[in-house]
Amino acid sequence: MVGFGYDVHRLAEGERLVLGGVEIASEKGTIAHSDGDVLLHALCDALLGALGLGDIGEHFPDTDPAYRGIASGRLVERVVAMVQERGYRIVNVDATVVLQRPRLQPYKEAIRRSVAQLCGIPPERVSVKATTPERLGFVGREEGIQAFCVCELQPR
Ligand code: MG
Repeated sequence: MVGFGYDVHRLAEGERLVLGGVEIASEKGTIAHSDGDVLLHALCDALLGALGLGDIGEHFPDTDPAYRGIASGRLVERVVAMVQERGYRIVNVDATVVLQRPRLQPYKEAIRRSVAQLCGIPPERVSVKATTPERLGFVGREEGIQAFCVCELQPR
């Protein structure tokens, strides 16, 4: 089964930027109820999508104080547990982050390892890609950051 996820967050100066559980040195970070990790939020939605279980907002509502400032890795662990409880395993994860600045190249391998660990799969089965929007649109103006993620699940 295949799942797809998408997430977007606003960026502002003085906020943290966390991607795939890895802290990124950046002038701007995400404004969010949680840690604003767009990559992990897109991953959660991809996994939930493959299972047909709705979206991250239904499972972890941002109106619930329990999720204020929560590390998104904890949300991924909960969703990965749902995958296992339903008798599936994650085959692979493929994600793309769209961001004008900073360049993510120096962080890609660390993000890949972090995502793999959260998913309980080898890093070779995780792909983390990054692209700039060529200064186009709200991401190009550095007002926001986007992430897209696809995953495949197989019965165990
Ligand atoms: Mg989000």
